[in-house]
Amino acid sequence: MVLADLGKQLNNALGQLSRASVVDDKVIEALLKELCSALLQSDVNVKLVGSLRTKVRAKIKKSLEEAETNGTVRESNKKQIVQKAVFDELVALVDPGQEPYKPIKGKSNVLMAVGIQGAGKTTTCTKLAVHYQRKGFRTCLVCADTFRAGAFDQLKQNATKAKIPFYGSYTETDPVAIAAMGVQKFKKERFDIIIVDTSGRHKQESELFAEMVNIGEAVKPDMTIMVLDASIGQAAEGQSRAFKESSDFGAIIVTKLDGHAKGGGAISAVAATKTPIIFLGVGEHFNDLERFVPSPFISKLLG
Ligand code: GDP
Repeated sequence: MVLADLGKQLNNALGQLSRASVVDDKVIEALLKELCSALLQSDVNVKLVGSLRTKVRAKIKKSLEEAETNGTVRESNKKQIVQKAVFDELVALVDPGQEPYKPIKGKSNVLMAVGIQGAGKTTTCTKLAVHYQRKGFRTCLVCADTFRAGAFDQLKQNATKAKIPFYGSYTETDPVAIAAMGVQKFKKERFDIIIVDTSGRHKQESELFAEMVNIGEAVKPDMTIMVLDASIGQAAEGQSRAFKESSDFGAIIVTKLDGHAKGGGAISAVAATKTPIIFLGVGEHFNDLERFVPSPFISKLLG
């Protein structure tokens, strides 16, 4: 079920609530059932859905009890109470309560992208560069992916098209050296935002993780961003946990939400790593990047 379908199904569930003549346990349980089934079909982790159900139920009960002790509650008020409980818990599901790093102008902010090959790292790095450039930050790109043939060419092409200064090498094979040199050069040139694209695939995962740790030590990123492909579904949780252990990323960007991705895996990744999503990738072009803020996102999802 793609994200738009999830929105539709959640809306259906809330629509049934609106149409109910009385708000009793039966109506609430039917709503919870529908809500959980929508989330499960979208690949949100079973445990997470179970805990959401318990929390929403408890919140509704508490809010209704409070309202009743404050006087008689009309059915329309009850509906609002239930809707608010659902909304708040959906927001909590995508909000780990951690503020992401905010780049500061006049300082060299180093951002490092990590993730598996094909997740959309290189594309996302360019999108990010374009985004910050537009906001008035002097932005540049460093290609520290020496593993994938053509990675530097791809970044170079993107950067040239988007008019973003870049650094990379056809001859240097050590990604740590390239990252360190690129960041040093751009820091000297007083760039505000230096985005480091890392490589995403190694024959052995442990090699990839070791490489990320080494690059991280060399460039000391202010924010490490995990780029997560929404279309990998449930696998997103395990993948993000593994990356968190080695790279301790502080933000997530979920890509390919324009396609048939269900998105729920990414929601599970947020909960598993307690890390906020900062942007969504919604297409292949440099402008296809949307800021992610939990409450407006859920509002928009619910239409
Ligand atoms: P990397 O290996 O992680 O650097 O991934 P790339 O940046 O090369 O992206 C892999 C493929 O995914 C490319 O064909 C991109 O155009 C595509 N891609 C990246 N982000 C998005 C997105 O948000 N939506 C869509 N539809 N495609 C994307």
